[in-house]
Amino acid sequence: MRRVSRRIQLGNVAIGGDAPVSVQSMCSTSTSDVTATLEQIRRLAEAGCEIVRCAVPDEQAAQALSAIRAECPIPLVADIHFDYRLALTALQSGVDGLRLNPGNIGERWKVEEVVKACAERHVPIRIGVNAGSLEKELLERHGHPTAAAMVESALGHIRILEDLGYQDIKVSLKASDIRRTVEAYRLLAAQVDYPLHIGITEAGTTWAGTIKSAVGLGALLYDGIGDTLRVSLTGDPVEEVRVGWEILKSLELRERGPVFVSCPTCGRCQIDLISVAEEVEKRLHDLPLTITVAVMGCVVNGPGEAREADLGIAGGKGQGILFRHGEVVRKVPQEELADALVEEAWKLVEEASSG
Ligand code: SF4
Repeated sequence: MRRVSRRIQLGNVAIGGDAPVSVQSMCSTSTSDVTATLEQIRRLAEAGCEIVRCAVPDEQAAQALSAIRAECPIPLVADIHFDYRLALTALQSGVDGLRLNPGNIGERWKVEEVVKACAERHVPIRIGVNAGSLEKELLERHGHPTAAAMVESALGHIRILEDLGYQDIKVSLKASDIRRTVEAYRLLAAQVDYPLHIGITEAGTTWAGTIKSAVGLGALLYDGIGDTLRVSLTGDPVEEVRVGWEILKSLELRERGPVFVSCPTCGRCQIDLISVAEEVEKRLHDLPLTITVAVMGCVVNGPGEAREADLGIAGGKGQGILFRHGEVVRKVPQEELADALVEEAWKLVEEASSG
């Protein structure tokens, strides 16, 4: 069952409560380069990114947010560290959210100014605790950046905002290893009802980071923890979005495009199934319809899976049987299988859109 969390609004995207778990990412461009940043944001949005964050290391970047916000198709979050003036400029630029740890920006009056400006604009703040940058005092007391230390850090930041009457908050607790991250989120989830932004930080390259993220975020989401997610990969951020969606789809928390089923092949397979499966997945990736597509190698499990799917093929000797909603459509030679599946998929899209 999903953890009960308070609902906040980030631009036109709701987070927490019964809102769907949203997928977000972060630009890898220099924020000051408005053209490159907007180009990347458009690619991210096309891939299904629902919230995007930009780093704000200096005043020039904070100023650039205004032009980015004007063209940005999805809610924009400014990532601020230490400097409250950058937060104020970002807010003036019209950002929809801030990522900022109030304990890191110094005197109380500075925090008050930022919180007041956020409250006036209904802009939520994400408290983002990262195991790599915990407060010195906590590190000394806990010995290491443990899950408990991360939670204590988050609660400290939360208290600062709550003392100022501000509760438009979401929280993240990221470490680069799964056990600590999952433990930290579980601990915090039991203590507060703020929505949680989940992620495994610095997870690694696309291959290793995808596995780490799927395991870590999968464990949390399966327990009902997590209201929005970011997969962190050393690579094109578009991959972060794709992986985020696949994680949510695999747990049946969200729907977007086809769900693929394909067998691993074995000695019974008599067609080049791997090429067919890869081609079908590539060509149907952006299909605007949620359907199950099964690509199976032989008659052992093939017909069963292919029949259960909206579309499927079960391989035979140099050919395959094409199924649609459980009915045999026709036999198709191996070299035409991918084309035939893709064609049938688009027919389903047309039928769905014509009602
Ligand atoms: Fe092997 Fe057939 Fe199963 Fe594929 S469906 S793994 S080819 S037995």
